[in-house]
Amino acid sequence: MDSEFSNILNKSELTKENLIKLIEANEGESEMLFEKAKEVRDLNTGKKVHLRGLIEFSNICSKNCYYCGIRCGNKNVKRYEATEDEIAEAARYAHDSGLGSVALQSGERSDKDFVKKVDRIIRRIKQQSNGELGITLSAGEQSEDIYRMWFESGAHRYLLRIEVSDPGLYKKLHPGDKRHDFNRRMESLLLLRKTGYQTGSGVLAGLPFQTTSHLAADLLFLKKADVDMVGMGPYIEHPETPLYSYKNTLLTREERLHLVLKMVAALRLLMNNINIAATTAMQTLDPRGVEKALKAGANIVMPNITPAKYKENYFLYEGKSGTSQNRDEAKRKAVERILAAGYEPGYGEWGDSRKFLNREQK
Ligand code: SAH
Ligand code: SF4
Repeated sequence: MDSEFSNILNKSELTKENLIKLIEANEGESEMLFEKAKEVRDLNTGKKVHLRGLIEFSNICSKNCYYCGIRCGNKNVKRYEATEDEIAEAARYAHDSGLGSVALQSGERSDKDFVKKVDRIIRRIKQQSNGELGITLSAGEQSEDIYRMWFESGAHRYLLRIEVSDPGLYKKLHPGDKRHDFNRRMESLLLLRKTGYQTGSGVLAGLPFQTTSHLAADLLFLKKADVDMVGMGPYIEHPETPLYSYKNTLLTREERLHLVLKMVAALRLLMNNINIAATTAMQTLDPRGVEKALKAGANIVMPNITPAKYKENYFLYEGKSGTSQNRDEAKRKAVERILAAGYEPGYGEWGDSRKFLNREQK
């Protein structure tokens, strides 16, 4: 095997050039990369994979990101907002079935009705589970006051992907108005951290205009931002979005999955004790996507427990995996994938990022 490549795998500091080599690894090299990442993951995060019951509680969004199927400009989307009872019921299912945490995700809105509703839901979930169920939020950019209110009500993790860390590329993927400002997104990430959340971010891989140099810079960005958790995904095209016209310039689906797996593994070498999710978009590209990600350094799985009647309307991209599954099936599949990858499900546990716990203890 290539000794230059194995030298990179054993370096204690990875430069941008090294990361580009990891991201560009061929099939044979990437096997070595995945093995190394798995070793680092096992040593630093243990043998368990923690679960988050994903509740996509509303697809109403005030933003218009060029890649996303539920962007406000897409008039063909049937918009929904799950009721508080429906969300509470899904959270009860998560608690009863040992998922340990829920992740509440939605389009971005900052109107009072929305903000207050989310706040009531957080309190209700905390109350009905005697404080036992962990809550991750992913509802976009908000003011410091809103972030604080939700934190004080009981949400303790927040996921806000930077999407891409290069401001020039960010501009190409979003409208040029204030609502889609790169600096505002960066500031939001800092605010989350300041408020006290376990802070998660992440990027999309395989986008039009994106190079391996961008991707290496993304990994260094996540390291520098010192995030506690990461959710990365392959970009998947959606016919009712502006970016769809670039679909012929994309890597194949197989290549895109391979790319994102290498990103996961390289990130694990850079940040040995963070939480990294094996995401739905990976599963969409490959029936073994989640299992492969777990074997390449990921340690979190998010079965989708969104109420069945809404699931197919949270359509971020083409062919999204699991939209016809009910929640028992989603949970069963998640557990099967964890076992297939050689790990144990962390039933009933929050599974906080070890990086975060270490920081708190200092
Ligand atoms: N509105 C919030 C959270 C919901 S969107 C936000 O944007 O932060 C959740 C994630 O879906 C986004 O962060 C984005 O990375 C991902 N996403 C959107 N469109 C996608 C696509 N076409 N392919 C893959 N992932 C996509
Ligand atoms: Fe809205 Fe998030 Fe989609 Fe952007 S990625 S359009 S903010 S749901």
